[in-house]
Amino acid sequence: MTTRDAAHEDWLDAVDDGAGYALVCPEGHGSLPPRRACPECGATSLSEEPLPAEGSVETFTVVHVPPPRFDDDAPYVTAIAGFGSVRLTGVLRGVDPDDDAVPLGLPVEVDVGTRETDGGRIVVFRPLDA
Ligand SMILES: [Zn+2]
Repeated sequence: MTTRDAAHEDWLDAVDDGAGYALVCPEGHGSLPPRRACPECGATSLSEEPLPAEGSVETFTVVHVPPPRFDDDAPYVTAIAGFGSVRLTGVLRGVDPDDDAVPLGLPVEVDVGTRETDGGRIVVFRPLDA
């Protein structure tokens, strides 16, 4: 496993424990591990700050023809959701995988789930008021 993967796995563990965090620089730019410097301004003093409990869907795509490792999951919805200073990419569950089913701005929580296809861990969003 590469260092990059290990850092991502550690971060998934934290999210799974309800302790997801972002790396935030002194300017308030958020990023996700693994990072040694802020991707926006290059600052190297990054602090871990808890993710907000609630994020909102900024954009989404309904995937009907998936990559092989998502074969058994299709159709599904991938989404980018903003959580405070960071944006997370994940699979949105608890909604119909339909192009009109997801209102932008939908409040969601973040969790860790598994792919149907191979059991791999993925970032999952769930609607908060569904
Ligand atoms: Zn920065």
